[in-house]
Amino acid sequence: MALDARPRRIAVVGAGMVGLSTAWFLQEHGAEVTVFDRRDVAAGASWGNAGWLTPGLATPLPEPAVLSYGVRAVLSPSSPVYVPPSANPRLLRFLAGFARNSTAARWRRSMESLVPINGRALPSFDALIEGGVKADTADAETFLAAYRTAQERRVLLEEIEHIRAAGQELEYEVLTGDQARAVEPALSAQIGAAILLRGQRFIDPGRFVHALADSVRARGGKIRAGAAVTGIRDERDRVAVRTTGRDFETFDTVVVASGVWLGDLARTFGVRALVQAGRGYSFSVPVERVPSGPVYFPAQRVACTPMGGRLRVAGMMEFRRPEAPLDQRRIKAIVEAARPLLHGADLDSRQDEWVGSRPCTRDGLPLIGATRSPRVFAAGGHGMWGITLGPATGRLLAEQIVTGHRPRELDPFDPLR
Ligand SMILES: Cc1cc2nc3c(=O)[nH]c(=O)nc-3n(C[C@H](O)[C@H](O)[C@H](O)COP(=O)(O)OP(=O)(O)OC[C@H]3O[C@@H](n4cnc5c(N)ncnc54)[C@H](O)[C@@H]3O)c2cc1C
Repeated sequence: MALDARPRRIAVVGAGMVGLSTAWFLQEHGAEVTVFDRRDVAAGASWGNAGWLTPGLATPLPEPAVLSYGVRAVLSPSSPVYVPPSANPRLLRFLAGFARNSTAARWRRSMESLVPINGRALPSFDALIEGGVKADTADAETFLAAYRTAQERRVLLEEIEHIRAAGQELEYEVLTGDQARAVEPALSAQIGAAILLRGQRFIDPGRFVHALADSVRARGGKIRAGAAVTGIRDERDRVAVRTTGRDFETFDTVVVASGVWLGDLARTFGVRALVQAGRGYSFSVPVERVPSGPVYFPAQRVACTPMGGRLRVAGMMEFRRPEAPLDQRRIKAIVEAARPLLHGADLDSRQDEWVGSRPCTRDGLPLIGATRSPRVFAAGGHGMWGITLGPATGRLLAEQIVTGHRPRELDPFDPLR
């Protein structure tokens, strides 16, 4: 692309981690950005998630073990993966595609696709902070995956070997229950085995995303809250964006980063991939002694993260429509799963009960890059890992948009696949 053909005025739809990171890195290339959100900054999945920056665990969701959860899920609404018994045709299509991708061979291929972008995850957070985003990331020196028995632990130990065999760096140590409690006294006496994961980090995601938005504004970007984008029109040399209550506004380029709603706007431009809400829940509780790092109970699929002097507890994978109301039964299921495993946590003094939608794809890979229109780009579908991979996504996509060359890390994530 000739220098004078570089897009300068760029619209981003969605003020979550992915959209704002893209906007910020576009500004690094001198672009003028306007970010539209129909609600507000961090109003979607980017607020109440677990805040783990864990490239070592950023693996494709469709994996052989998930299928067995799927079967159990239909039988029990308190299972960590929930599929409503009356799944609609779209959800059935999603689940069928998901099941097709849940083989060991496909998992391996998808994992190898994630390794290069995973390698860019933490350096991209550092670039944001060095570039003026007023927020921190914390080193997760005591990141523990904890189990009742050594037998339960075998699943993750095997997965770690597969992760490493695919080329992903991940250092760990195997601990007994007593050793784990010495590291983290918030673990109860029921914990009999653990894995200490090295080299990962965590953040308070809501605070981080707000700091990112402040930085985008401070660098001259506009953030338009309460502005739902209802249409995008390619006008050949520019692109027009319509928001509710306003006329079309024109830009050189638009990036659709609207989380689980990505398909609503991107489908017109050839993005056929289904983005399904994998809804997760969280809340925060007081603890006698706040853990110094994340605690993960993989068998229960419960994730705990120290945040703001409390413990955020998150879990569930509920395949329902994103607009469905918060279902108290899921909160209860997380509470009952976590209660015997945590020591000194008052799980009945909950605050900030929250539900949000992981934007899941059938192959477990994100959708990042140009659509059928060279002026319309997609950025999303990161499922469980949009916080970890948001900044790396924004950095790589901004490079592609401005230079016209797709960085090789993005090759596997073509939104038109
Ligand atoms: C319980 C739970 C725990 C998680 N834990 C982690 C974790 O520890 N680490 C990790 O890496 N990831 C985690 N995730 C996943 C992560 O939260 C998501 O992948 C990530 O937040 C997705 O970011 P996003 O910017 O794509 O979407 P979102 O944050 O959902 O942002 C999309 C935005 O687009 C806006 N929007 C939608 N449609 C329109 C429109 N038409 N016009 C204007 N605006 C629109 C929405 O209002 C929203 O603000 C977790 C998720 C859940 C639910």
